[in-house]
Amino acid sequence: MFLSITTTQHPATNLGYLLHKHPDKVQTFSTAGGKAHVFFPEATDERCTAVLLLDIDPVELVRNLKVPGESRMLQHYVNDRPYVASSFTSSAISSVYASALNGRCEDKPEWLGIPLALEAKIPALKVKGGMGLLERIFQPLGYTLQAERLPLDEQFPEWGESSYFSIILQHNISLQQLLQHLYVLLPVFDSERHFYISSNDIEVLLKKGETWLKDHPERDFIVRRYLNNISLAKMALARFIDDEGNEATGVEAEPINLEVEEERLTLHQQRLNAALEVLKTSGAKSVLDLGCGEGRLLKMLLREGQFTRILGADVSFHILQVATRRLYLKDMTPKQKERIELIQSALTYRDRRMVGFDAAALIEVIEHLDLERLPALERAVFEFARPATVVVTTPNREYNAHYAMPEDKFRHGDHRFEWTRQEFAEWVQKLSEQFGYTATIEGIGEEDPNLGAASQMAVFKRSVE
Ligand code: SAH
Repeated sequence: MFLSITTTQHPATNLGYLLHKHPDKVQTFSTAGGKAHVFFPEATDERCTAVLLLDIDPVELVRNLKVPGESRMLQHYVNDRPYVASSFTSSAISSVYASALNGRCEDKPEWLGIPLALEAKIPALKVKGGMGLLERIFQPLGYTLQAERLPLDEQFPEWGESSYFSIILQHNISLQQLLQHLYVLLPVFDSERHFYISSNDIEVLLKKGETWLKDHPERDFIVRRYLNNISLAKMALARFIDDEGNEATGVEAEPINLEVEEERLTLHQQRLNAALEVLKTSGAKSVLDLGCGEGRLLKMLLREGQFTRILGADVSFHILQVATRRLYLKDMTPKQKERIELIQSALTYRDRRMVGFDAAALIEVIEHLDLERLPALERAVFEFARPATVVVTTPNREYNAHYAMPEDKFRHGDHRFEWTRQEFAEWVQKLSEQFGYTATIEGIGEEDPNLGAASQMAVFKRSVE
């Protein structure tokens, strides 16, 4: 791992004082992942560069891991940790550049805290989320960012591109701020952290992010990825809410699931918009919203005069009460009431009330059923109710790498499964053949070049009466 910091602020050799490192010497330190070397390949009054080279021993790394049993597989030995900037870089920054990170400099106190012309270069940073993520993280902090995606192998360009980037960041900023940003943000791009996170990490994060994190537009994402633990992230985010003088809990009537909060506000709206568009262009006049939840789609359907008959169904009596309130059903005129009805129904049973509709939507519903119960829903919807158009959305499991969540967990506590794009496509294909539909699939939300879009949507059209 290699991180170079350059300044062109005259006299540039002051960088040595600020980092507490002598430009004429190569110094070596022991850190969490291996040996860290600091040296200055250039040191003139015009331009001075300090390089931090972290020499991680991948074999030592694995030996030191507390892996239970004998499960030390080859992949543990052949890993990318020695080459890429990762959480080891943060550890190295905090041990090797501790004084600068904490804003201490006895020899040149006048250079402390003042903005300097600084440039940081990282030749290999693993970024799950691509160029867009780099921009969303660094640009709000005022950095000029140059980033280049590295090929998998320079010798074999046909192998395509990797998820590693070479990046250069430039800014007029104090050295302490630059180090704080790197310390917090480098681990955010890659969720494979090398140490166990504890509640103490919340304090570290809040301290290092004291002057900038609160107002960063990607604050919640940064906190979740940095802590890489959902309950700690919730605790940390609650601290921001406290600081703003709001109540940490009870802000919303419905419990908010923090790991999907971002989704609820943005991705979820995108799903609803996509589904509405499909329903409108299908020419449907009557629509079923199956698993309607609190009635977000129903509300949008009501605004469209095209839909003259709308039925929302959900198994949860409680959520139907919420929907009734949110749609102001009780205040509707008798004529308005004719357009919409809410019913309690389990989608795994045939229900006569659902027959005779032009279209149906299942928005983020199928993943709430046990896989063994899914065929019952398939028959109830595609064989019995049998609308001409059916739109189904569900998360794309591959995209979960973008959220700070363990690999064996789902986006929501009540999800019974989440599918990859391949698994969803196979299901869609099987259903189409079984019930006489043709289908198309598309991604919804932000799209990762390797992992696909955050959510996936299938549109089924009945081809056999
Ligand atoms: N479609 C809504 C809600 C999605 S949450 C929206 O997009 O906002 C999933 C909903 O499916 C929940 O409201 C849950 O009560 C409902 N649900 C789960 N299993 C169900 C079943 N077997 N029958 C009917 N509804 C079900």
